[in-house]
Amino acid sequence: MRALVDAGLLADDPGMEAVAARYAVAVTPHIADQIQEGSAGIAQQFLPTTAELRLTPEERLDPIGDAVHEAVPGVVHRYPDRVLLKPIHVCPVYCRFCFRREQVGPAGLILKPAELDRALDWIADQPAIWEVILTGGDPLVMAPAALGKLLARLDAIPHVETVRIHTRVPVVNPRKVDDAMLSALSNTQPVWIAVHANHPDELKPPAVHAALARLSQAGHPLVGQTVLLKGINDRVETLTALFRSMVKLRIKPYYLHQGDLAPGTSHFRVPLAQGQALMTGLRGHISGLCMPTYVLDLPGGAGKVPIEAAYIESCRDDGRYVVRDPWGTAHVYPPEA
Ligand SMILES: *Cc1c(COP(=O)(O)O)cnc(C)c1O
Ligand code: SF4
Repeated sequence: MRALVDAGLLADDPGMEAVAARYAVAVTPHIADQIQEGSAGIAQQFLPTTAELRLTPEERLDPIGDAVHEAVPGVVHRYPDRVLLKPIHVCPVYCRFCFRREQVGPAGLILKPAELDRALDWIADQPAIWEVILTGGDPLVMAPAALGKLLARLDAIPHVETVRIHTRVPVVNPRKVDDAMLSALSNTQPVWIAVHANHPDELKPPAVHAALARLSQAGHPLVGQTVLLKGINDRVETLTALFRSMVKLRIKPYYLHQGDLAPGTSHFRVPLAQGQALMTGLRGHISGLCMPTYVLDLPGGAGKVPIEAAYIESCRDDGRYVVRDPWGTAHVYPPEA
């Protein structure tokens, strides 16, 4: 916080002390440069504001029900075939809208060796688990040696056939994607990388292009994860630019997340109907490669559901369906034989 004030990125406002006392604050030098260069879309994601002190009744400390589905410490098991493993709760930056803002921070949990052993033993005992998703926090802040060791241990579990890593590192600290990281990531199982980016400015710097190219050239499929954020990316033009940049950088847009009900984030939330209208504004107008699935992680832990507006409008009494095209015209689809 102090560092941001000293760098002239943040006003010296006493209310801000209360924000920083409650939620972690940090940006990387790379992000500080982009804010200094005037990117409002980036500044709003990372610079704290006193709006975060406003809590609304629907907000929850555990918005997507991680705790309900915690199998052993660090392991969240909500779906039969995949599991989250959270080795570390530290991030290179702290997003002001973070859905795990009550857990992440510089003093956040790092699984102790015995806990990590227990988590891996638990996964090894669950033959239905086909995929392990490393998240946190940001797993790519781990030291490459520790990350490599963890991946090797996952590699040794025969039923775990794929690994996914959710990260912001290639976008917020691109120089960290170095040879040591690439060699840590080289594994027999595919390691998919889910890159979190919300504004097209995040994908502009050449260093970010280089980091993403290194990952994709090393054979890691890249998917994009975006949070819909009021005042940051809640316009068709902004989302079009973001998703096109992703595709150009070999990232397939995967999810557009409705903002979760995390404490002090109501100023970022976009009404669901507006999110649906944005998706309708994209569908058919831009390449299907650029289209993510708009999802809501149900409060409480029931899981993610797609929430794009329905194109099947109704099923008539005669069994015919009325379906809208991307431009709004209704068409009739015949009944099943
Ligand atoms: C989001 C999430 C996943 C991953 O879901 P996908 O739809 O496969 O991307 C898995 N487990 C938990 C607990 C999650 O919250
Ligand atoms: S990088 Fe992810 S976990 Fe970390 S603060 Fe941002 S949204 Fe939260």
